[in-house]
Amino acid sequence: MVQRTHSCGALRETEVGDTVTLAGWVRACRDHGRVVFVDLSDREGVTQVVVDVRTSPEAFAVARELRAESVIAVSGVVRQRPRGTENPALATGSVELTAEEMVVLNPAQALPFPVDDASRVDDALRLRYRYLDLRREALRGNLRLRHRVVKAMRDHLDEASFLEVETPLLTRSTPEGARDYLVPSRVHPGEFYALPQSPQQMKQLLMVAGLDRYFQIARCFRDEDLRADRQPEFTQLDLEMSFADQEAILRMTEALVMAVLRLVQPEREVATPFPRLTYAESLARYGTDKPDLRFDMSILDCTELLGTSGVRIFRRAVAGGGVVKGFRVAGAASMADEDLAVLETVSQGYGAEGVVWLRVIDGVVRAPLAKHLTSREQQRLLDVFGAADDDLLLLVAGELAVVRAALDGLRREMGVRQGLVDPEALAFAWIVDFPLFKRDAEAGHWSAEHHPFTSPAPADVALLETDPGAVRACSYDLVCNGWELGSGSLRIHQPELQARVLQLLGYSADEAEASFGHLMEALGYGAPPHGGIALGIDRLVAILAGTDTIRDVMAFPKTRQAADLVMRAPAPVPQTQLDEVHVRVVLPPQANADTRSGGVKPLDGETREVPGKRRDPQRAL
Ligand code: ASP
Repeated sequence: MVQRTHSCGALRETEVGDTVTLAGWVRACRDHGRVVFVDLSDREGVTQVVVDVRTSPEAFAVARELRAESVIAVSGVVRQRPRGTENPALATGSVELTAEEMVVLNPAQALPFPVDDASRVDDALRLRYRYLDLRREALRGNLRLRHRVVKAMRDHLDEASFLEVETPLLTRSTPEGARDYLVPSRVHPGEFYALPQSPQQMKQLLMVAGLDRYFQIARCFRDEDLRADRQPEFTQLDLEMSFADQEAILRMTEALVMAVLRLVQPEREVATPFPRLTYAESLARYGTDKPDLRFDMSILDCTELLGTSGVRIFRRAVAGGGVVKGFRVAGAASMADEDLAVLETVSQGYGAEGVVWLRVIDGVVRAPLAKHLTSREQQRLLDVFGAADDDLLLLVAGELAVVRAALDGLRREMGVRQGLVDPEALAFAWIVDFPLFKRDAEAGHWSAEHHPFTSPAPADVALLETDPGAVRACSYDLVCNGWELGSGSLRIHQPELQARVLQLLGYSADEAEASFGHLMEALGYGAPPHGGIALGIDRLVAILAGTDTIRDVMAFPKTRQAADLVMRAPAPVPQTQLDEVHVRVVLPPQANADTRSGGVKPLDGETREVPGKRRDPQRAL
């Protein structure tokens, strides 16, 4: 085989006059009659190849027949491009290769879509031919960025005395958090492994083992409904530290994030320590525990002010135990009615009845509902929001959780519409002081806000049985630009306390023993105080890459229906294989025949959406 001497991104003026050989993919061909120009591409870049019929008739004959994306090798002499034809957009743009010999190593068939212009192609088709899509520089660049992010993490943690330890993927199902992916056992009929939702329990056991500081670039599996920032399998930087308090873990994580930024995007300005907000503050001000802090627009409460006003939806909401809240958008009074109608739809997407908007024009509140507000109420409203001319007030009334969610969505929407979302900015923040439990209305008992191994705040341990809802957790989330980037906590390290918490979570003593006996037993053999965090690597890289979906930073992501369109997984397996693992398949009535015959399922359409609309089960474990 012809050996290349350089990559397609290597040639510069220093190589002019040299005889070289390149190999790569034909990205584009321009036939100018007597000369054919070929853009030859590989991972490192693109080089222009010139094939002239007068000097290289044989190579010219080959070049005329080239098809896009065929793999070729070309030898020839590097020359300076004629003045005026340089291409400053290419690193190799001041030179070109004059072909003397050209060999087709492998011709490509007609392509399902042009690689160069894949951005307008249906997402499902791109996922089906992901290996073609990955030839685009944008995606390749994302994978390169990801490589560097992970390398920076490894280097930094190695320096900080962390040990990288792998933990098993075939492990045990734990009946909390998200749904598990199960793997049937051949050797133990009727028994199943579960793929880990995170290595949470294993990293705690490593602390009991005395490993002191652990990390892992850990694949996690959660069978959940998918969206832009969720995939069935995703990667976390998982870490755990012994004898460390919350402050030490937060500082460690900040140093790690800064080390990553220094390596991959030193131009981005981020200050440490990251700002901190309590969970309660975050919900009150931004309606969410993962606020986008690149812009302000804080939410204010008007329940008292408007609950008795002449506006029926406010009165009704407050009489039903609900609230009225809203925020001010500076300079947005001129927003068109059609755009306000879009906001209505946005708010309804979160279950709200709608949004009430008020424009401030010439010091007066203008809105269809304004006539139902007294002038005193109008003035107080302006005072509460500090509203001035040209401002727009957006108000939502209803049940607290719905109002918060809707205002969070509206705030994000308005941030974009008003041009307040600086794509270069990285607004990291810690959310702290989460509650330990949340009420699980369906199950009728408390469930863990973070996970069942999170330590209650020492000052609140006494409240565990008397007022569980008031117990704060030693847990923290790292958020950035409206994404939850990671969560962590100090862990319970005494078996008795773990048993108490499990009991509050609705486990009988037997169930707790069956599900977590191994962990509680280990805690009884000398467990150091410990805590840790997991950072979503896909999410971090997506933010740094400036994309709104983690699929763009994964080599082979799955669709929203959790299908791998390249490998065509999941797929039926032969009965013999099922027999070996003692599994009988009972299909639901609506299962369609296509899936059973091993055929390719219809491509499921993909849509992009902003992260953070609903609660995020990927933080569950
Ligand atoms: N296991 C947790 C998670 O995956 C992270 C942690 O508490 O360290 O979210």
